[in-house]
Amino acid sequence: MTTTPAFPTGTILGYPRIGRRRELKKAVEAFWSGRIDETELEAIAAELRTTTRARLVELGLGATDSAIPESFSYYDHVLDAAVTVGAVPRRFASLVDADGRIDLAGYFTLARGEGDNLPLEMTKWFDSNYHYLVPEIGPETSFSLASDRIVRQFAEAKAAGYVTRPVIVGPVTLLALSKPSDEAPTGFVPLSRLDDLIPVYAALLARLAEAGAEWVQLDEPALVSESIEVPRAELLGAARFAYSTLGRLEQRPALFVAAPYGSLDDALPVLAESPIEAIGLDLVRGQTPDAVAALADKTLVAGVIDGHNIWRGDLAAAFATASALATLSPRIAVSTSTSLLHVPHDVLDESSLGDDLSSWLAFADQKVAQVATLARGLVDGQSAIQDELDAASAALAARLAAPGVRDGEVRARAADLTEADFNRGDYAARVAAQDEAFDLPFLPTTTIGSFPQTGEIRRARAQLNKGELTTDEYAALMRAEIRRVVELQEEIGLDVLVHGEPERNDMVQYFAENLDGFAVTENGWVQSYGSRCTRPSILWGDVSRPKPITVDWSVYTQSLTEKPVKGMLTGPVTILAWSFVRDDQPLGETARQVALALRDEIGDLEAAGIGIVQVDEPALRELLPLKKKDQAAYLDWSVGSFKLATAGVAEVTQIHTHLCYSEFGVVIDAIRNLDADVTSIEAARSRMEVVSDISSSGFDHGIGPGVYDIHSPRVPSVTEVTELIERALESIPGRQVWINPDCGLKTRGYDETVESLRNILTATRAVRAKSEVSVPA
Ligand code: GLN
Ligand code: ZN
Repeated sequence: MTTTPAFPTGTILGYPRIGRRRELKKAVEAFWSGRIDETELEAIAAELRTTTRARLVELGLGATDSAIPESFSYYDHVLDAAVTVGAVPRRFASLVDADGRIDLAGYFTLARGEGDNLPLEMTKWFDSNYHYLVPEIGPETSFSLASDRIVRQFAEAKAAGYVTRPVIVGPVTLLALSKPSDEAPTGFVPLSRLDDLIPVYAALLARLAEAGAEWVQLDEPALVSESIEVPRAELLGAARFAYSTLGRLEQRPALFVAAPYGSLDDALPVLAESPIEAIGLDLVRGQTPDAVAALADKTLVAGVIDGHNIWRGDLAAAFATASALATLSPRIAVSTSTSLLHVPHDVLDESSLGDDLSSWLAFADQKVAQVATLARGLVDGQSAIQDELDAASAALAARLAAPGVRDGEVRARAADLTEADFNRGDYAARVAAQDEAFDLPFLPTTTIGSFPQTGEIRRARAQLNKGELTTDEYAALMRAEIRRVVELQEEIGLDVLVHGEPERNDMVQYFAENLDGFAVTENGWVQSYGSRCTRPSILWGDVSRPKPITVDWSVYTQSLTEKPVKGMLTGPVTILAWSFVRDDQPLGETARQVALALRDEIGDLEAAGIGIVQVDEPALRELLPLKKKDQAAYLDWSVGSFKLATAGVAEVTQIHTHLCYSEFGVVIDAIRNLDADVTSIEAARSRMEVVSDISSSGFDHGIGPGVYDIHSPRVPSVTEVTELIERALESIPGRQVWINPDCGLKTRGYDETVESLRNILTATRAVRAKSEVSVPA
């Protein structure tokens, strides 16, 4: 590179890729089911990218100054990076052609599995509710530039008259997030392959430069996280090596290294000393850094517009923060703090939020416009944008004073809580009471709650919303579904039954719709993983429960069977994590309000004769702050809110919880402190890796490590499930073990679900029969 092109004054780190009306989701699913072919899918995706570029220009980004990020992905950006560098696990070798390339169908197979070949594991992306696929790297991984998709997308834009900015996960983050492959020896660390990976990034950069790219964005969020397993010094060493090497290349675009989700801390000097051209700082989560040597040579990209929430926020403060960076470098720009992947497209797509709430919000498109405004301010001075800053300030002031934002009764109740409200009785006494009450067999079987959400169920809900069905007609259809699900569970032979959650559109939104303080959107979809999207609710005011929510459904279900029925609620932390939450008070305070509402619901379920209640907290791990110094306070309020919700019940009432991940070790103390009688977790995709953590931690409550990976359409065989159960029993005392799938079944079809559950029961019965001889139950 001879001269550095100017960095655009305003940009975003990434834009939602699923489409304003989930066009990509629909197209990808049509491709999977064979309704369209690869060419048709590619055409729909290309059209979506074209629409996005035009829209971003319309909202104020530059068309030819590299302001538009080329951040499209068919499934996941980490998978994209892995496939780009040829990191395909051995078990999928047959998907790769002689040139090391993989086609679109092969790409999806890595994500979804095929036959006996398990897909890549999936886990949460930093502290967001987005899931990425975990690459598998070993000594045998042979890196090469195996995909030029990213170059082709840049060229596609160029041909249409744009100069965009290709975005790819950086080499350090890619390896830091990878796990050792099956072939790797114990103790192998993927980051040790950095030397071999860098030449592939170099080759990619050369290709991009050749195609005319002026800037490229390398995302390195691993540098802000303290939850990466690699020791910090090694991570920083890796960054130093990667960027001094890439920076010295002759043939490359200018390098913009972005570090979303937190402050860079000691990684900032490392980047500052590297021969890169721009550094992206998350100034929403992190503070403005003190002066750092060598920073003055870089463009500093101030991530001041929150990419992770939907509030319009304090635009004047954002402008001040961005402007203050001018003391560190003469070249500053503004951007979002993270990719806008985490927020829906457009507030203007919502018709039912009301004018007040709408005026407090900014979705992706509004945030792009905010960035454009601030960029104009940087160029023309604050007076040029004063009207916009004032309008945002006025909306913020109106929001804080609006009715419902503070409710005296809710606040008084939260203020009166004492220690006793947070604690249940002695665990041994609970076990004794529950053993007697439920009389469950060795290795009790259950499910996580939802059964497949069939087209019929979704149609009925759509008809209800359109007024084509009355509430009573809808309820009758749901009751019929519940009856079917109960009969099915009885027939399969499960021990603790569920109602199947047919009435729930979503495990958080359903509660949001039934609690005060929330609003729900019509089109506010965000990608969760692959083609899966969720529609987070907006928690804008003080939360309370006007009336019981789930009690009638659970009571009806229990009336159909002699077996115990498990009531099913979503926990306070998850309700917060999967909603867009007010940012005007600490999360812990909001969590307490939600917990009190749930506590009332659990009390009503118990009074109505429901003896087991599950309170799902799949997001407990996800909200864990990336910085160690913030973690203790988080665990304190998150665990506290779960306990506040659940501690009001009698000893005999069995509290279950469900967590959606397998990194049990990281939050083991927190899970223990939840003090749930039974905890179910994900374990199938990682083949029970988690049980060693459970046993070494001395966890002594009930535990259900999942034996069926519900994120994939594969049906686990009886042998496979038997092996998983036996593996669990090698480490965990049998009296603690429950048998269940990894997660709810709502995303699966009925055929695969029934077959899988039958296999689980067959396997469980076989293990029970064997252990009657050897292990006392
Ligand atoms: N009870 C919920 C279900 O089964 C739990 C889902 C989740 O943890 N994500 O759908
Ligand atoms: Zn789950």
